Amino acid sequence: MPVASVDPANTSRRCIRCGHIDKKNRPRQDRFACLDCGFVEHADIVGSINIAHRAAENYRAQSTVPSAA
Ligand SMILES: [Zn+2]
Repeated sequence: MPVASVDPANTSRRCIRCGHIDKKNRPRQDRFACLDCGFVEHADIVGSINIAHRAAENYRAQSTVPSAA
């Protein structure tokens, strides 16, 4: 199973539909509501999808296995 490290910055604030990033996209701890496009979802689901997308991008960007330096 491949493992990718992910920078978690903005993963809970970024809209998975339009990409808009705003801390006001999180009106409550458990709720995501995009101010730009109106997309609404549970905040944990949005965060996990953003992390998964970012991990996939990182994994594709790595042409070789990183060294343990
Ligand atoms: Zn949006």
